Amino acid sequence: MTLALAACAQPRAGGAEPAANTPTSANVTVAFVGVDVLPMDRDALLRDRTVIVRDGRIAQIAPAATVDLAPGTFRIDGTGKVLMPGLTEMHGHVPGPDDPQYAQDVLFLYLANGVTTVRNMAGDPWHLDLRRRVDSGEVAGPNLVAASPWLSAKTAEEAEREVREAKQAGFDLVKIGDMPRAAYAAMANTAHALKLPFAGHVPFEVGLVGALDAKQASIDHLDRYVEFLVPPGSDVTGRDPGVFGSGWIGSIDRSRMHDAVQRTVAAGTWNVPTLSFIEHLASPEPAETMIRWPEFRYLPREVREAWVRAKHEYARRDDFRPEAAQALVRLRRELLKALHDGGAPVALGSDAPQFFNVPGFSVHREMRMMVDAGLTPYDVLVTGTRNPARAIGTPDAFGTVAVGRRADLVLLEADPRADIANAARRTGVMVGGQWWPEAALQSRLQEIAARRAD
Ligand SMILES: [Zn+2]
Repeated sequence: MTLALAACAQPRAGGAEPAANTPTSANVTVAFVGVDVLPMDRDALLRDRTVIVRDGRIAQIAPAATVDLAPGTFRIDGTGKVLMPGLTEMHGHVPGPDDPQYAQDVLFLYLANGVTTVRNMAGDPWHLDLRRRVDSGEVAGPNLVAASPWLSAKTAEEAEREVREAKQAGFDLVKIGDMPRAAYAAMANTAHALKLPFAGHVPFEVGLVGALDAKQASIDHLDRYVEFLVPPGSDVTGRDPGVFGSGWIGSIDRSRMHDAVQRTVAAGTWNVPTLSFIEHLASPEPAETMIRWPEFRYLPREVREAWVRAKHEYARRDDFRPEAAQALVRLRRELLKALHDGGAPVALGSDAPQFFNVPGFSVHREMRMMVDAGLTPYDVLVTGTRNPARAIGTPDAFGTVAVGRRADLVLLEADPRADIANAARRTGVMVGGQWWPEAALQSRLQEIAARRAD
């Protein structure tokens, strides 16, 4: 065993092994040797394992002392490190064809943060082609789950046609915007008939109960929960519910939260809370200092400037006064905790790149907020690994470290269950069997920053 390992410890002259700052090619067999595995199918660390990755899948997990490496295997020393599944962003927005460079940068920002699957909630047919280029290895990025273009049909006929077009085009789900009740009903019926999930916002006319009754696959941003918490018959006439209910926050009845949770559990509808979206808008930190967070160096100047303007605009809205915004932040954290404790399924999403959410980096900020809301780090990691695979309907494809799973993995310096910040202390990221050592990720990040330095 020792001899076999020693033979593989160094890159072989003329072999396929790359230098320390470049990724491996996806068809090289890779071994993480002597690593502690956090499989995420249980709250436990499997000590001193060797994990073999072949043809893009996890081929073997065994006690390190029992494994001999085949010649040519690319060996990664896992001593003292933790191997966990890659993360999933369940509410991302990959930019469209008007800025292909920005789209590619966004994909890489995700990857560089250990995000190996993104459910893209801003669909365009161009994304289906982009996904093919990612799958072929031409573009570096996470696996993409592709939502249709934003569906906000005005009539039932329009809704039905748009769902059929989404199916035909090859999208994986329908992205819901606002629409009248009749259009939503037609959308839901057509989507169920075509076995196409639908997810996203909840139209005002439909409300939380309507969306749960229709078996919406996921409610994103905790949309319409505040409106549900306002008791029927309350006088909210003439008041705009505002941003995710901020305008009605003064009329809620907390005793209705239990009912909201019970109904969500019964429906089986997922929640993708995207806490960071509202928390960044509501935070008392001035936009001008937020925009100096280190991760903003990777974004185009127009995007940074637009977010600063947007934060100022929200601060001026009648339905988003500072006290209402803070109350909304507190309520959303309470809701998340209540949903989680009540057994309602939750999946990680941060709505990037939107409102100070830099792709990938925002996932780590979101996880911190979820911990601050009262979930344990392990529970938060479940929402970003095993749960998204279930929510997407492919529980055995990814999201856990197990034989046969897609080799989407993150190697960490320390156990993220001890501190969620450890989820960002990477040694490298593997997507579809291709290993990106941290030095390779950082070198590509520097290229992006250099391009955006203006
Ligand atoms: Zn969004």
